[in-house]
Parts: sequence; structure tokens; C-alpha cells
Amino acid sequence: MLPFQAISFTTTEPGKRLIVTGAVHGNEVAGTHGIRRVIAEIESGALALARGSVTFVPITNPKAYALKRRNGDRNLNRNLQPTAPGVAPAEFEDHIANWLCPLMAQHDALLDLHSFQAQGQAFVMVGPQNNTGALEPTVHGDTERDWALRLGVKRAVDGWLGTYAKGVDERRARAERQPASEGKRHDLDAKYGVGTTEYMRSTGGMALTLECGQHDDPNGPEVAYRAIRNTLALFGLTDEPVPATETAMEGLHLGTVVDKFDRNDAFARPWQSFDPLRAGDVIGTRANGEVVRAPHDGYIVFPNALAEANYEWFYLAEATRRFNP
Ligand SMILES: [Zn+2]
Repeated sequence: MLPFQAISFTTTEPGKRLIVTGAVHGNEVAGTHGIRRVIAEIESGALALARGSVTFVPITNPKAYALKRRNGDRNLNRNLQPTAPGVAPAEFEDHIANWLCPLMAQHDALLDLHSFQAQGQAFVMVGPQNNTGALEPTVHGDTERDWALRLGVKRAVDGWLGTYAKGVDERRARAERQPASEGKRHDLDAKYGVGTTEYMRSTGGMALTLECGQHDDPNGPEVAYRAIRNTLALFGLTDEPVPATETAMEGLHLGTVVDKFDRNDAFARPWQSFDPLRAGDVIGTRANGEVVRAPHDGYIVFPNALAEANYEWFYLAEATRRFNP
């Protein structure tokens, strides 16, 4: 069994407790590089910590990292929670969760560093606005927004877990209409949408996911590095000036997820995340011939042409002014 590694720096002055994670998905290593660069700066004395503490996890999923792929046994960033008391961990990711979840809970803020498959610019995923709902209550909505505006990226996305939960409701309703003998697999638990940042918020913390660009983008490690340094400054862990607020942030709110019903449901185009849509645009055609159109102006996000039946095919987002100054 591969060991887990966390590197912590603790100052003598009270302050925020930050945790930074890389390679939650094993083939997303921009964050790993950015984290290691900051660790080296701290160890050499080039970067001084002023207060609080910071924990770095350069490789959160060492099995997936060793395999150079997204997952070890399964996606660590879904249904993330420690195994129930008395339940033996079955998959490698269960062992990670039993180590990582209590570790995250010892911190105030999580910066989780990822990258993505398609071409495109870096973006940040932000939690919901302040709310007392059952799904993802938080008092950190404004703080997360202000943090996101200082990471050094120009696109922000929110609405993940709420949209995911709506999709689960629709999937469950569809499953009830289908004969059980069809044996189709559905993910029928809203908890399935819980990854690192959602788990962190469930502990009362705040969290952002930074997608640092395409997996092999040579600038990805720099994006990760800049975001870590900016976060250290913003939260007062260093005495560097607070980074400037991005004044031209493009804000997108996820509102809808559309599943494949059949694995042969097909896109009309090779969509890329954040391609704009006009109401009525043909997005694709179902295997039964039904044409799927954009219900409103907006954007297609996370299109997955290879999705199996009853899994997410694409998300729809609309512009939001949440991130405008
Ligand atoms: Zn990822």
C-alpha cells in the first residue's frame, strides 16, 4: 500500500489554517508542481511564513498518480467521506478518504488544484452563496467569492452540487419508470456529488477548486503556484501585499445537468467546455431520434461524448453577476 504524504508548516503566530491539495486525480499534476515549488521556497527561506499554518498534499491519490491516470480504483472526488465505523475500506480511495477527510477537517480553508482534458483557460469552482439549506449550507459564500477573485484566473463557475442534486432527482425519477430488469446503473445519491471542496464545506470550512488548464499546458504549474502564493498572502500567512481583485471575471452559474439516456445519444458537434449556446441551438440527438436543444442562452460545460447511459452527458450554465465588482 502506497503511503500518504502531507507536509505542514506551522508558525508561532495564530492565523488561518490552510490546506493545499494536488493530484486528487492522478494525471493532474500542475498542482503537484506548484505545491513543490512553494515548499522549496519555504524550506530555503526565500518565502517567509508570518502566521497561521499551511499543509501541502502534493499527491493526494498516490495510486492514481503512479498509474498516470485519473482514478485508482474509483473517482476520489465523488461520494468523498470516511468509511462508516466498523466498515473495512474496500477500495484504495476509501483509505485515502479515511486519512484525508480528518486532515481537511483540521483546517479552515482548502485550495484543491486540478487540470482538465480539453483545451481551454484556467477557471475556479466556487461554492454556493450563503445559505442555510440542507444540501450545502455555508456562511463563507462571500469569502469564497473574494478569494476566487484573487487567484489570478479570469473565469469562475458556481452551482455544482445543487445542479448535481437536481440531476440525481431526475435520474431517480427516470429509474422508477424503467423496469428493474434493464439493470441500468444510476447514481441516485446526491452525496455522490461530494468531492474535496464539498466535504470541506461540510466541516464548516471554505474551499475552492482551481482548474489550472489543460493537463499538459506548460503554464499549468505557474497557474497553481500563483494561486497558492496569492492565497497565502490573502489569508495573511505571508506578509506580502494582498493580491489585486480580478475586475474582468467571467462568472458562470451551472443550472442544469443532462444525462445520456442511451450510450448512443450523440452530440451535434465536438463541444468544448464553455462553448456559448443560443436558445434553440441543437446540442445533440438522442438514440431514439429526439433532438436536444439549448433551452436558453448560455454555455455548455463538461460535455462528455463518451458518457454511458444514465451518466452526465453535459451541463448547462448561464452568466452570473456574482463575481462582478
Ligand atoms: Zn480533476
